[in-house]
Amino acid sequence: MLNHAKNTTVEVAAFELKKNGETRYYILPWNDNDRTTSRFTTNLNKYGLDGYNEINIMQLYHTHPGSNMPGPTDREWSNNSLIPIWAICPNGKSYIYSPIENTTNAIELKNFLNF
Ligand SMILES: [Zn+2]
Repeated sequence: MLNHAKNTTVEVAAFELKKNGETRYYILPWNDNDRTTSRFTTNLNKYGLDGYNEINIMQLYHTHPGSNMPGPTDREWSNNSLIPIWAICPNGKSYIYSPIENTTNAIELKNFLNF
């Protein structure tokens, strides 16, 4: 995701999914995205993720190719969906907004997402 933040000119987003104790990551198609917007649905059947529902989405990760800060729409989406959202910025910093805590924290990106 960090590589996308630095080198892909549009946003790239990924879901962290959990089911039966197993975690997997699904990178959403980014062909409809632009520099400041990710377009996707939480209807996971659309992506062929059969057996997964919105309740399986633990977190949303997305890149900010044009900005080194989280944005107000991130907070809005997270508050509506109640899903924590990460903004991964090209300078290597990452921010997570938690709708439960109503806070945004700068945080080290998990190593395995540094691809
Ligand atoms: Zn954002």
